[in-house]
Amino acid sequence: MHPSLLTINYLIKKGAFLPQHFILCNAVVSDGQNFILENVNIEIENGLIRKITNHNKPINGAIPSYNLRGRLVLPGLLNPHHHLYSALATGLAPIGPTDTFQKILENLWWHLDQTLDEESIYYSALNGLMQSIKYGVTTVFDHHASMKSVSGSLSIIEKVYRELGLKGLLCYEISDRMGMDSVQEQIDENLNFFQSHQTDASLKGLLGMHANFTLSKDSLEKIAQAKPSNLPIHIHCGEAYSDFEYCVENGFAGPVHRLNEFGLLDAQSLLIHCIHLSETDYQILEKVQPIVVSNPESNANNNVGMMNLEKIPNYLLGTDGMTGNILGSMRSHFLLRNGNLQSGLDSLFAKPSRLIQRYFPNAGRLAEGFRADLAVTDYVPVTHVSLENLFYHLVFGIQGKPMFMTIADGKILYENGKITQIDEAAANDAIRNAAHTLHRRYYE
Ligand SMILES: [Zn+2]
Repeated sequence: MHPSLLTINYLIKKGAFLPQHFILCNAVVSDGQNFILENVNIEIENGLIRKITNHNKPINGAIPSYNLRGRLVLPGLLNPHHHLYSALATGLAPIGPTDTFQKILENLWWHLDQTLDEESIYYSALNGLMQSIKYGVTTVFDHHASMKSVSGSLSIIEKVYRELGLKGLLCYEISDRMGMDSVQEQIDENLNFFQSHQTDASLKGLLGMHANFTLSKDSLEKIAQAKPSNLPIHIHCGEAYSDFEYCVENGFAGPVHRLNEFGLLDAQSLLIHCIHLSETDYQILEKVQPIVVSNPESNANNNVGMMNLEKIPNYLLGTDGMTGNILGSMRSHFLLRNGNLQSGLDSLFAKPSRLIQRYFPNAGRLAEGFRADLAVTDYVPVTHVSLENLFYHLVFGIQGKPMFMTIADGKILYENGKITQIDEAAANDAIRNAAHTLHRRYYE
């Protein structure tokens, strides 16, 4: 199918009421960093947070309002590491053994990504982003692979972001798996997207790379040569011991050291996982301060170990394609660490806020004048909420459940169990058909 034919226009709800100007009333509001306000109203107009006021003040009856009855409102959440291409994979059986990390990749994920075509890339992204919206995520950094459909793949995913109204950073994860001609095509896919989106208000590009152990010296040199200095890398780094071992066998102190030696590392780099590292790697992290993203549910699923929180206290939390649910992942993270976490709120709010603002300067803050990206939880705290105990309200109160409302750029994308803009039943039918075709081709 040609990408121009891929559209969810036929799924758009006719006459759906999406107000441009409205008031969320009677909420408990927190930015997760500096304040908690009880009993307040948030007025939203033309995509921005216009005013946050006390609920007892009379409101203009002509403006539509939604009584939240004390629900907790948070900033729209960030998922800094997702793989939307895996969103149709549920139920797929690996085509061979999965007793090592390498075999999990070969016999499931790499086989899947080679089966993807334009249609399945599109409906994977649609399914993955619909799930993200339900859980209050309004910005998603996607790490994409589809080895038999490289050129133009990011534009297909872009289409879904735009139709659903989300923000994000897109990239193609370069690896050597398909030979050097393909490496060039994968580099070009990243560069083309980056260059054509430098001033875009909602979508921008990163330089995606799969991992050290799937990138030869020649490939890293090629990538380093092609990389504009203002295009940060987004790469799996030290996820499994085999990645660390590969770097050591090739004469480096570890995966961070290898990236640094090739001139690819800087403070904007996104390093994913960072589990199997050497002392030299930790020292480089300390010095360069790249952005580290931990993915606890994925790490548990792949049995690759856990990131050392004493060595890396500053990190964000991603889902690595497992789910679209960031608060649920934080709950898993908390439980996997036996309730021993120091900087949960920071990872969920302060760091994402700074990162979103770096790419979209008027977004990422729950404050007047900023773009209205909000996660309205379906949780009414009945006990006192403070910045000191907010994290426990998230973990034990919300419990990773779907939101009451998700708002992005002042648009209500999700309300009371329904995606507002599209006919969800029809969308699910289309997704199911695409998944059926994909699964059949996967086993062929
Ligand atoms: Zn990943």
